[in-house]
Amino acid sequence: MHSPSHSFDVIILGAGAAGLFCAITAGQRGKRVLLLDHADQAGAKILISGGGRCNFTNTGVQPERFLSQNRNFARSALVRYTAKDFVALVEKHRIAYHEKTLGQLFCDGSSRQIVAMLLAEAEAAQVDLRLNHRVTDVSRNDAYVVETDKGSFTAPALVLATGGLSIPKMGATGLSHQIAGRFGLAVTETRPGLVPLTFGADDLALMQPISGVSLEVVAKREKRAFREAMLFTHRGLSGPAILQISSYWRPGEPLSIDLMPDEDAGAWLIARKRERPKAAVHTILGERLPQRLAVGLVETMLAPLVPPGAIMHGMSDKALNKIAMVLKQFTVTPSGTEGYAKAEVTLGGVDTEALSSRTMETKEVPGLFVIGEAVDVTGWLGGYNFQWAWSSGWCAGQAI
Ligand SMILES: Cc1cc2nc3c(=O)[nH]c(=O)nc-3n(C[C@H](O)[C@H](O)[C@H](O)COP(=O)(O)OP(=O)(O)OC[C@H]3O[C@@H](n4cnc5c(N)ncnc54)[C@H](O)[C@@H]3O)c2cc1C
Repeated sequence: MHSPSHSFDVIILGAGAAGLFCAITAGQRGKRVLLLDHADQAGAKILISGGGRCNFTNTGVQPERFLSQNRNFARSALVRYTAKDFVALVEKHRIAYHEKTLGQLFCDGSSRQIVAMLLAEAEAAQVDLRLNHRVTDVSRNDAYVVETDKGSFTAPALVLATGGLSIPKMGATGLSHQIAGRFGLAVTETRPGLVPLTFGADDLALMQPISGVSLEVVAKREKRAFREAMLFTHRGLSGPAILQISSYWRPGEPLSIDLMPDEDAGAWLIARKRERPKAAVHTILGERLPQRLAVGLVETMLAPLVPPGAIMHGMSDKALNKIAMVLKQFTVTPSGTEGYAKAEVTLGGVDTEALSSRTMETKEVPGLFVIGEAVDVTGWLGGYNFQWAWSSGWCAGQAI
């Protein structure tokens, strides 16, 4: 995959999911593609994704499952290169996969298989992949000129695919946002998404001692609701339900969490009082909740309602209904998030106003494309972000 040339049809900055896919697509069309990355390996985030098994797409992809200032922007790309298209590629490479839950497709084996597949496709498409290249400047005269610590390269087309700001330890930078800004494109407000939430001392009095406990909940913020697992941590809350709702949460806002989905908690508690009048309140709660959570709740948030050592018989129906309210609408206000260090994605990015939704090319700057997480399009947890990377990369690769 090496060519001595410094002149190409297209230079793609960032050999992550979107950059690789764009490079493959353009290369297959006979374009001379240079794919540059400052890291020493391509697709590093793919390798660590999905707990090492890469949740590479989702069978339920639909534009409503992506956040963006322009809710319709992702539609065209997602329809032009679909989850089924990517699954067909995975099958062509004989990579075994399975649906884990909620349409999420994972490798049976390892994420390495997805990276190997992409590298094999890139090699077949004669993509010139160059790692360990630090980009020092980008300019445009007749063509785009990319200066690096290992020489300068030119091409009539430039693709910004360096992703978002999440996990700086892995080499995430705001390079695409900076270059976009230099070419006059707007960048919407960026913030961590799919990220654990942190809490102040009052809430941590419950959460910290039961760190490690998880249960299925419905996490809600206004009209959004996610029914998945929630995990108590040292610093607050995590788990898929919390990561999902975190993308819709803004500082200062409360979240409402249903700790007993599907259960009419009031009716259930009153029935249990009749059936087991001598049982301790926390013992009964422990029938539906993890025992440590039941004890923790009784000692903290439910303490004003449940005297120490209270048994069911001693509780009025009114008090049981109040307990039920707390369980069904457990309301907490996060103090913040764990930030980019722990966020799976970056919300916001290059403003879609500036881009063609069909090609990802900027409307005002010919030959300049932006794809993947660098764009103001962010998917739900569950393979949606990789699908956006494949779809947007494919569209740009077709148009170059
Ligand atoms: C822990 C974790 C697990 C995840 N799991 C999943 C999952 O299972 N399913 C899913 O759909 N999504 C998952 N995601 C999200 C997904 O990884 C990203 O949305 C996706 O990788 C974005 O693709 P991208 O190509 O736009 O950016 P990236 O894949 O981040 O690639 C950007 C590339 O640009 C390079 N780069 C950055 N700055 C520079 C620079 N200044 N100069 C040169 N190169 C640069 C980087 O080295 C990198 O190779 C996960 C994210 C994390 C952090």
